Amino acid sequence: MKLAFFGAEGKVGRALVPVLERAGHEVRGIELGDEADVRGLDAAVDFTSPTAAPANARAALEQGVSCIVGTTGWDPKPLDEIARERGVRLFVAPNFSLGAVLMMRFAGQAARYFPRAEIVELHNEAKQDAPSGTAAATARLIGGDPAIHSVRLPGLVAHQEVIFGAEGQLLTIRHDTTGRESFAEGVLLALEKLDTLPPGLTVGLEVLL
Ligand code: NAP
Repeated sequence: MKLAFFGAEGKVGRALVPVLERAGHEVRGIELGDEADVRGLDAAVDFTSPTAAPANARAALEQGVSCIVGTTGWDPKPLDEIARERGVRLFVAPNFSLGAVLMMRFAGQAARYFPRAEIVELHNEAKQDAPSGTAAATARLIGGDPAIHSVRLPGLVAHQEVIFGAEGQLLTIRHDTTGRESFAEGVLLALEKLDTLPPGLTVGLEVLL
């Protein structure tokens, strides 16, 4: 596919673009200050920032190009109508790593059997939003408004622990992203399945599994 990649020079972009190209996609990087011209392309991908992603996604959708967004910390719902009107897809996932999606799924299952849970999410110090989109999605899945603890330090990539507590026992479900290449698998899957989704907004990699 012919792709636009908003944020190709960012930490995620630098890891993902070579993987997308090796998979046979043709990628045009679009950086801050570049015109968001994606006309004629098959899809756009955004890993930028919570302030940049809404305008990038809107620009792609208005040009009739479906958009896959990994940027977290913004609300994609207002763009649902535009995507529907144009007959294109907006796919947003708080986490494109398959292991993290499984971690969320297992946490959802465990929540049925434990009365209390708390979430610890740990990310690189450069991450702008807190709590992380993955932690917020996990909290919604668990229910009961669990506390979320956000750690931002150099040396971290993306990590999350969901700790369940009951009388006399603890259960910890943990996922560690040690390399940003792990997000490529989910993005490739989203590209592959994009046309099978209904026009409008779809949220979460689990929908594609
Ligand atoms: P990053 O290193 O800061 O990279 C962001 C890149 O986007 C930078 O190159 C930045 O350029 C560029 N940018 C900023 N505004 C732009 C605009 N309007 N148009 C095009 N490019 C623009 O951040 P990152 O670590 O790659 O993460 C990016 C986002 O993805 C964050 O929101 C992060 O939380 C999220 N993320 C999601 C997942 C997931 O699985 N869903 C995984 C990892 C990260 P400048 O440096 O010039 O500002």
